[in-house]
Amino acid sequence: MSSAAVWGPSAAPYHREGQHLSITVVGSIAFDAVKTPFGERERMLGGAAVHFALAASFFERVRVVGPVGDDFAEPELAVLEEHAIDTDDIERVPGGKTFFWRGEYGWDLNTRETLDTQLNVFEHFEPKLSPESRASEVLFLANIQPDLQRRVREQCPQARFVAMDSMNLWIETARDSLLQTIAGVDCLILNDAELRELTAKPNLVQAAREIFSWGPPGPAAIAAKQGEYGAALLTPDGFFGLPAFPLEAVVDPTGAGDSFAGGFVGYLAARREELDAAGGELPGDLLRRAMAYGTALASFNVEEFGTERVARLTAEEIFARVGELSEMTRFSDVRVPLRR
Ligand code: AMP
Repeated sequence: MSSAAVWGPSAAPYHREGQHLSITVVGSIAFDAVKTPFGERERMLGGAAVHFALAASFFERVRVVGPVGDDFAEPELAVLEEHAIDTDDIERVPGGKTFFWRGEYGWDLNTRETLDTQLNVFEHFEPKLSPESRASEVLFLANIQPDLQRRVREQCPQARFVAMDSMNLWIETARDSLLQTIAGVDCLILNDAELRELTAKPNLVQAAREIFSWGPPGPAAIAAKQGEYGAALLTPDGFFGLPAFPLEAVVDPTGAGDSFAGGFVGYLAARREELDAAGGELPGDLLRRAMAYGTALASFNVEEFGTERVARLTAEEIFARVGELSEMTRFSDVRVPLRR
């Protein structure tokens, strides 16, 4: 896979002093109610920014931006802080209620039904980032209303790599705003069905080509999440695909996409020296490795409900799974004489 040009100039000298070594993420911080064929939870810590942060925190310090209500108590905050995630930019809204989502999965865990979405404190949220969050070189706009994603993007002018996620709700209700947000990022991480819906194109390759035709500015790489079938990475002149890690038991897919993004973006951030050496390009080999880390983190996420599994994951487990993934996707191109 050839390189994609996205890695922006360094805002040295801060970079050299180590002040920018963090990833800022904005997105939902939530209570989720989830039912799957394997059990249910009435109220658990969730949200796109939370799942992303837990996965990315293995690679770098993550700063979470977003509001919560009075109902978001110490135990929830502690889950983040125990993983050295910076919660200074989590704003507690007095009298407010935390974002709430209720979803249900049938036997096909690839499709889920959203039964309730309550934006609550996100409805009137005005992001005000701390100087530390503004100074992050890597920014992830996790799933939330696209105006909010952009308001955070605008406060991080020094970000050298910006990736984003979104969902069908925003494609259907805030399309123009979403397109503006997409124009301001380097990498789009979306489900394949959402990519097709966004572009009204029947397949992934056409959908990616359409998105690249909107720029520049705009994404130079697209990661298409395909649920139990894995993920694909498309650049204007390259393609790479990985299957999902084959698991015996998938319990709750909620947050898999955000964990994938956390592993993918986290790995790229951790390899910034490789990015610097590539002089403004995202090398294809680096992107492939980032895909493997994303795939590994997502696979752990779905083994248990909500954040439970990733919260007690270890670095050794991640390395072992990436190693297995590397083994199971390797093949050599040995030819035989063909009959015709
Ligand atoms: P994923 O399974 O990775 O697509 O993301 C699941 C997370 O997205 C859940 O923890 C929800 O709290 C969150 N979520 C669901 N709907 C929305 C929405 N409309 N905006 C932002 N976050 C959402």
